[in-house]
Amino acid sequence: MTEILYMKDIESNYIREFDANVVERGFDYVVLDRTAFYPLGGGQPSDTGRLEWPGGKAEVREVTKKEGIRHHLVQNPELVPDKVKGVVDWDKRYGHMRMHTAQHIVSGVVYDLWKARTVGNQLYHDRSRIDFAPVKFTDEMVSELESKTNEILATGAKVEIETMRRDILMRDVDAQRANLDLLPKSVQELRVVKIAQFDTCPCAGTHVRSLSEIGKIKVVKRENKGKDRERITYELI
Ligand SMILES: [Zn+2]
Repeated sequence: MTEILYMKDIESNYIREFDANVVERGFDYVVLDRTAFYPLGGGQPSDTGRLEWPGGKAEVREVTKKEGIRHHLVQNPELVPDKVKGVVDWDKRYGHMRMHTAQHIVSGVVYDLWKARTVGNQLYHDRSRIDFAPVKFTDEMVSELESKTNEILATGAKVEIETMRRDILMRDVDAQRANLDLLPKSVQELRVVKIAQFDTCPCAGTHVRSLSEIGKIKVVKRENKGKDRERITYELI
Protein backbone atom coordinates (compact mmCIF):
# COMPACT_ATOMS: atom_id res chain seq x y z
CA MET A 1 0.00 0.00 0.00
CA THR A 2 1.28 3.44 -0.94
CA GLU A 3 0.89 6.27 1.55
CA ILE A 4 -0.93 9.09 -0.27
CA LEU A 5 0.64 12.34 0.86
CA TYR A 6 -2.08 14.79 -0.21
CA MET A 7 -4.95 13.09 1.65
CA LYS A 8 -4.28 14.22 5.22
CA ASP A 9 -5.17 17.92 5.28
CA ILE A 10 -5.40 20.89 2.93
CA GLU A 11 -1.74 21.88 3.36
CA SER A 12 -0.64 18.41 2.18
CA ASN A 13 -2.22 19.22 -1.22
CA TYR A 14 0.73 21.60 -1.73
CA ILE A 15 3.45 18.93 -1.42
CA ARG A 16 5.28 19.00 -4.72
CA GLU A 17 8.52 17.22 -3.78
CA PHE A 18 8.96 14.16 -1.57
CA ASP A 19 11.39 11.35 -0.77
CA ALA A 20 10.25 7.78 -1.35
CA ASN A 21 11.40 4.17 -1.72
CA VAL A 22 10.67 2.03 -4.75
CA VAL A 23 8.76 -1.07 -3.60
CA GLU A 24 7.93 -2.61 -6.99
CA ARG A 25 9.14 -2.38 -10.61
CA GLY A 26 6.89 -3.40 -13.51
CA PHE A 27 7.40 -3.37 -17.27
CA ASP A 28 6.89 0.40 -17.53
CA TYR A 29 6.19 1.53 -13.96
CA VAL A 30 7.35 1.72 -10.37
CA VAL A 31 5.30 1.60 -7.16
CA LEU A 32 6.52 3.82 -4.31
CA ASP A 33 5.97 3.48 -0.56
CA ARG A 34 4.64 7.06 -0.52
CA THR A 35 3.60 9.56 -3.19
CA ALA A 36 2.28 13.07 -3.79
CA PHE A 37 1.35 12.27 -7.42
CA TYR A 38 -2.40 12.30 -8.12
CA PRO A 39 -3.48 9.23 -10.12
CA LEU A 40 -5.98 9.55 -12.97
CA GLY A 41 -9.57 9.36 -11.72
CA GLY A 42 -12.68 11.20 -10.60
CA GLY A 43 -12.60 13.52 -13.61
CA GLN A 44 -9.13 14.81 -12.69
CA PRO A 45 -6.15 14.03 -14.97
CA SER A 46 -3.05 12.26 -13.72
CA ASP A 47 -0.14 14.31 -12.46
CA THR A 48 3.11 14.16 -14.39
CA GLY A 49 6.64 14.98 -13.22
CA ARG A 50 9.84 13.08 -12.52
CA LEU A 51 11.74 10.82 -10.17
CA GLU A 52 15.26 12.01 -9.37
CA TRP A 53 18.32 10.48 -7.73
CA PRO A 54 22.00 11.46 -7.59
CA GLY A 55 23.19 11.29 -11.19
CA GLY A 56 19.88 10.44 -12.86
CA LYS A 57 16.19 10.95 -13.37
CA ALA A 58 13.13 9.35 -14.98
CA GLU A 59 10.06 11.08 -16.35
CA VAL A 60 6.67 10.18 -14.87
CA ARG A 61 4.30 10.32 -17.86
CA GLU A 62 1.15 9.07 -16.09
CA VAL A 63 0.01 7.73 -12.71
CA THR A 64 -2.77 5.13 -12.46
CA LYS A 65 -4.44 3.41 -9.52
CA LYS A 66 -6.03 0.25 -10.88
CA GLU A 67 -3.69 -2.19 -9.15
CA GLY A 68 -1.79 -0.08 -6.66
CA ILE A 69 -0.56 3.40 -7.52
CA ARG A 70 1.69 2.94 -10.55
CA HIS A 71 4.05 5.68 -11.73
CA HIS A 72 4.43 4.97 -15.44
CA LEU A 73 7.84 6.04 -16.69
CA VAL A 74 9.31 7.04 -20.03
CA GLN A 75 12.59 5.31 -19.07
CA ASN A 76 13.24 1.70 -18.09
CA PRO A 77 12.13 1.14 -14.44
CA GLU A 78 15.10 -1.19 -13.90
CA LEU A 79 17.38 1.86 -14.06
CA VAL A 80 15.62 3.53 -11.10
CA PRO A 81 17.41 3.02 -7.74
CA ASP A 82 15.59 2.15 -4.50
CA LYS A 83 15.66 5.68 -3.10
CA VAL A 84 14.22 8.53 -5.18
CA LYS A 85 12.91 12.08 -4.92
CA GLY A 86 9.53 12.63 -6.59
CA VAL A 87 8.86 16.01 -8.23
CA VAL A 88 5.32 16.87 -9.40
CA ASP A 89 4.84 19.19 -12.44
CA TRP A 90 3.45 22.00 -10.37
CA ASP A 91 1.88 24.41 -12.86
CA LYS A 92 -0.41 21.73 -14.23
CA ARG A 93 -1.27 20.25 -10.82
CA TYR A 94 -1.98 23.68 -9.34
CA GLY A 95 -4.30 24.36 -12.29
CA HIS A 96 -6.16 21.14 -11.46
CA MET A 97 -6.46 22.19 -7.81
CA ARG A 98 -7.97 25.56 -8.76
CA MET A 99 -10.31 24.03 -11.34
CA HIS A 100 -11.39 21.23 -9.04
CA THR A 101 -12.18 23.53 -6.13
CA ALA A 102 -14.15 25.80 -8.49
CA GLN A 103 -16.12 22.74 -9.62
CA HIS A 104 -17.38 22.17 -6.06
CA ILE A 105 -18.80 25.70 -6.03
CA VAL A 106 -20.30 25.54 -9.55
CA SER A 107 -21.97 22.19 -8.81
CA GLY A 108 -23.34 23.50 -5.51
CA VAL A 109 -24.75 26.65 -7.12
CA VAL A 110 -26.52 24.67 -9.87
CA TYR A 111 -28.02 22.32 -7.30
CA ASP A 112 -29.18 25.16 -5.06
CA LEU A 113 -30.70 27.22 -7.88
CA TRP A 114 -32.26 24.52 -10.07
CA LYS A 115 -31.93 21.20 -8.15
CA ALA A 116 -29.90 19.71 -11.01
CA ARG A 117 -27.21 17.23 -10.08
CA THR A 118 -23.66 16.86 -11.36
CA VAL A 119 -23.70 13.68 -13.44
CA GLY A 120 -20.22 13.91 -14.97
CA ASN A 121 -17.19 16.16 -15.00
CA GLN A 122 -13.77 16.42 -16.59
CA LEU A 123 -11.25 19.00 -15.57
CA TYR A 124 -8.02 20.17 -17.16
CA HIS A 125 -5.55 22.78 -15.98
CA ASP A 126 -7.01 25.47 -18.26
CA ARG A 127 -10.70 24.58 -18.67
CA SER A 128 -13.30 22.20 -17.24
CA ARG A 129 -16.67 20.80 -18.11
CA ILE A 130 -19.52 19.60 -15.94
CA ASP A 131 -22.64 17.71 -17.03
CA PHE A 132 -25.87 18.47 -15.18
CA ALA A 133 -29.27 16.77 -15.13
CA PRO A 134 -32.14 17.34 -15.16
CA VAL A 135 -31.88 20.90 -16.47
CA LYS A 136 -32.28 23.03 -19.59
CA PHE A 137 -30.14 26.15 -19.35
CA THR A 138 -30.99 29.49 -20.90
CA ASP A 139 -28.57 32.41 -21.42
CA GLU A 140 -30.07 34.10 -18.35
CA MET A 141 -29.48 31.01 -16.22
CA VAL A 142 -25.86 30.80 -17.35
CA SER A 143 -25.35 34.48 -16.39
CA GLU A 144 -26.92 33.80 -13.03
CA LEU A 145 -24.67 30.76 -12.54
CA GLU A 146 -21.58 32.82 -13.35
CA SER A 147 -22.47 35.73 -11.09
CA LYS A 148 -23.56 33.58 -8.14
CA THR A 149 -20.39 31.44 -8.42
CA ASN A 150 -18.14 34.50 -8.68
CA GLU A 151 -19.85 36.10 -5.69
CA ILE A 152 -18.95 33.02 -3.62
CA LEU A 153 -15.38 32.82 -5.00
CA ALA A 154 -14.89 36.49 -4.06
CA THR A 155 -15.49 35.68 -0.38
CA GLY A 156 -12.09 33.93 -0.33
CA ALA A 157 -13.51 31.29 2.03
CA LYS A 158 -11.16 28.70 3.48
CA VAL A 159 -11.13 25.12 2.20
CA GLU A 160 -10.71 22.38 4.80
CA ILE A 161 -10.30 18.62 4.70
CA GLU A 162 -11.42 16.35 7.48
CA THR A 163 -12.22 12.69 8.03
CA MET A 164 -15.83 12.16 9.02
CA ARG A 165 -18.09 9.22 9.73
CA ARG A 166 -20.75 8.72 7.11
CA ASP A 167 -23.66 8.80 9.58
CA ILE A 168 -22.45 12.11 11.05
CA LEU A 169 -22.11 13.66 7.58
CA MET A 170 -25.58 12.39 6.63
CA ARG A 171 -27.04 14.47 9.44
CA ASP A 172 -25.40 17.68 8.20
CA VAL A 173 -25.77 17.63 4.42
CA ASP A 174 -28.29 17.05 1.64
CA ALA A 175 -27.26 13.56 0.44
CA GLN A 176 -28.08 14.33 -3.20
CA ARG A 177 -26.27 17.66 -3.21
CA ALA A 178 -23.16 15.94 -1.81
CA ASN A 179 -23.58 12.87 -4.06
CA LEU A 180 -23.49 10.82 -0.85
CA ASP A 181 -26.10 8.42 -2.19
CA LEU A 182 -23.66 7.37 -4.94
CA LEU A 183 -20.94 6.17 -2.54
CA PRO A 184 -20.84 2.45 -1.78
CA LYS A 185 -22.53 1.71 1.55
CA SER A 186 -19.38 -0.12 2.70
CA VAL A 187 -17.47 3.19 2.90
CA GLN A 188 -18.05 4.49 6.43
CA GLU A 189 -15.04 6.80 6.95
CA LEU A 190 -15.06 9.67 4.47
CA ARG A 191 -12.52 12.28 3.46
CA VAL A 192 -14.69 15.35 3.44
CA VAL A 193 -13.90 18.64 1.71
CA LYS A 194 -15.56 21.59 3.41
CA ILE A 195 -15.73 25.09 1.90
CA ALA A 196 -17.20 27.21 4.71
CA GLN A 197 -21.01 27.32 4.45
CA PHE A 198 -20.91 26.84 0.67
CA ASP A 199 -20.15 23.16 0.18
CA THR A 200 -19.44 20.00 2.15
CA CYS A 201 -18.92 16.75 0.30
CA PRO A 202 -16.78 13.63 0.26
CA CYS A 203 -13.98 13.93 -2.30
CA ALA A 204 -10.54 12.38 -2.86
CA GLY A 205 -9.22 15.03 -5.26
CA THR A 206 -6.75 17.87 -4.76
CA HIS A 207 -7.89 21.37 -3.76
CA VAL A 208 -6.59 24.87 -3.01
CA ARG A 209 -6.62 26.19 0.56
CA SER A 210 -8.74 29.25 -0.16
CA LEU A 211 -11.26 30.39 -2.78
CA SER A 212 -9.09 33.50 -3.19
CA GLU A 213 -6.64 31.37 -5.20
CA ILE A 214 -9.22 30.72 -7.93
CA GLY A 215 -10.23 34.12 -9.29
CA LYS A 216 -13.41 34.08 -11.36
CA ILE A 217 -15.07 31.58 -13.66
CA LYS A 218 -16.25 32.34 -17.18
CA VAL A 219 -18.64 29.97 -18.93
CA VAL A 220 -17.31 29.56 -22.49
CA LYS A 221 -19.68 26.91 -23.84
CA ARG A 222 -23.05 25.33 -23.20
CA GLU A 223 -24.18 22.15 -24.95
CA ASN A 224 -27.19 19.90 -24.83
CA LYS A 225 -26.10 16.29 -24.24
CA GLY A 226 -29.46 14.56 -24.58
CA LYS A 227 -32.75 14.65 -22.77
CA ASP A 228 -32.54 17.00 -19.75
CA ARG A 229 -28.74 16.81 -19.74
CA GLU A 230 -26.59 19.90 -20.28
CA ARG A 231 -22.85 20.45 -20.39
CA ILE A 232 -21.18 23.63 -19.19
CA THR A 233 -17.54 24.42 -20.04
CA TYR A 234 -15.75 27.11 -18.05
CA GLU A 235 -12.36 28.75 -17.74
CA LEU A 236 -10.79 30.72 -14.90
CA ILE A 237 -10.08 34.39 -15.52
ZN1 LIG B 1 -13.06 17.77 -4.67
